[in-house]
Amino acid sequence: MEFYDVVIVGGGPAGFNAAKTVRGLYPEKELLLINDREDLQIPCSIPYVIGGKVPLEKNVYPLEKVREFGKLLIDRVTAVEPSSGTIFTPKKRIRYEKLILSTGWLPRRLNVPGCDLKGIYYIDTTTQGVRRIKEEVERAEKITLIGAGFISLGFADQISQNFKGKDIFVIEASNHIASGVFSEETEREIEEKLRKQGVKVLKNQKVEGFKGKERVEEVITKEGSIKTDLVLTFIGFIPNTKLAVDGGIKVDNRGFIEVDHFLRTSADNVLAAGNCISHLCSIDGKKIPGMLASVSARDGRIAAINLLGPQVKDRGIVPSGITEVGGEFFGFSGYTKGEFKGNKVISTDAYPGSFPGCNPLTVKLFFNDKGELVGGEFKGKSRSVWALVEVVNRLIEERKRAVEIASLLNSAFPPTTPPPLLQPLQEVALKALRS
Ligand SMILES: Cc1cc2nc3c(=O)[nH]c(=O)nc-3n(C[C@H](O)[C@H](O)[C@H](O)COP(=O)(O)OP(=O)(O)OC[C@H]3O[C@@H](n4cnc5c(N)ncnc54)[C@H](O)[C@@H]3O)c2cc1C
Repeated sequence: MEFYDVVIVGGGPAGFNAAKTVRGLYPEKELLLINDREDLQIPCSIPYVIGGKVPLEKNVYPLEKVREFGKLLIDRVTAVEPSSGTIFTPKKRIRYEKLILSTGWLPRRLNVPGCDLKGIYYIDTTTQGVRRIKEEVERAEKITLIGAGFISLGFADQISQNFKGKDIFVIEASNHIASGVFSEETEREIEEKLRKQGVKVLKNQKVEGFKGKERVEEVITKEGSIKTDLVLTFIGFIPNTKLAVDGGIKVDNRGFIEVDHFLRTSADNVLAAGNCISHLCSIDGKKIPGMLASVSARDGRIAAINLLGPQVKDRGIVPSGITEVGGEFFGFSGYTKGEFKGNKVISTDAYPGSFPGCNPLTVKLFFNDKGELVGGEFKGKSRSVWALVEVVNRLIEERKRAVEIASLLNSAFPPTTPPPLLQPLQEVALKALRS
């Protein structure tokens, strides 16, 4: 039987970063990473591959690089036995001293009449899977996307921008697009941009079934039916935790692996990281899914740092993300609607306004009734949107108030930052102090 000091199951962003961190911090440890699939694509950029901006062959997920950190085995782990420190694949038994589970997510499936017809797709991150969807998109005249979350919007945007003349529908069961993370004003703006690109967004419409002979021809909703050549289904993710459950490792009522602040599971010597674990919102301590590569990447590092004992605490996550629609980036941090009060400032992402490529940069901040920052929303055409999401995430974590934000120091440089005389975070904070 083979033995390794550290075994990692799952080579997505969580497992990959765990392996890299183990190698960096504990170079003497014998390390094995097992992943059941190879020839994968980088998931985040798949919408751009579909739209043609990134070539398929240049979007390869670098699983192979794990060989630089340790041993890589392409195989399926079929069981975990924490009591004996053993994992099983169909042909092997492997013993470990420490195990990190990073088995990720699976797409949620629609279980309605006709759901097995050809032409209905879920996200598949293998190169072959992405190629198949790309070819289908190129052929289809009528495309229906089910679900209006970030991934679906990314697909709708890229398809409508890059393939003119296709009939594109987005069907969403709730009253919100983008998983309801944006304020109503921003939601309306995103919807309007999609509409201008020819995408028909139908909200409050539940898919009740599909019709067709062998291949899907119609999507049936309560309100009627939509003729279609292709269905892309993005109705969310579920944690891939059967292995943990069967191994007696505790999961919560939604199936996410329960971990403590050091990402240790209920089983001795077993840590877990990424989309398969339960996360805490650092704003209010609520349990939230962390279905993002960014969260998984961080988790992988935390689990590896804590491999030999508690060293760094998971402080929870501020929900945040960025999407692109109609050539603009929309970012959010924390909570942006409901009872929270928002103020808005429009600055620019360079200065002076005459600087080549200078564009408007819109920032909104949201405060709770204690005056603490709980959310932010950002719109612009440059990477400044990313920078703002990052800064505001930290300010939310630190429970900053408007007066402290108004006194923040930010750098200034004409080609890359807002003008010192209209620094957006500080200006919104001043507005909040006045309101
Ligand atoms: C189209 C798309 C766009 C996205 N865009 C973004 C974005 O812009 N930003 C962002 O932050 N996130 C984005 N995401 C989400 C992000 O890709 C996921 O959150 C991330 O991949 C999760 O990482 P993970 O390591 O936790 O799990 P995964 O990436 O799911 O990796 C887990 C791996 O474990 C393997 N595995 C599972 N079980 C076993 C087993 N029993 N034996 C062996 N191997 C096993 C799986 O095959 C998989 O390769 C996007 C996702 C998609 C699909």
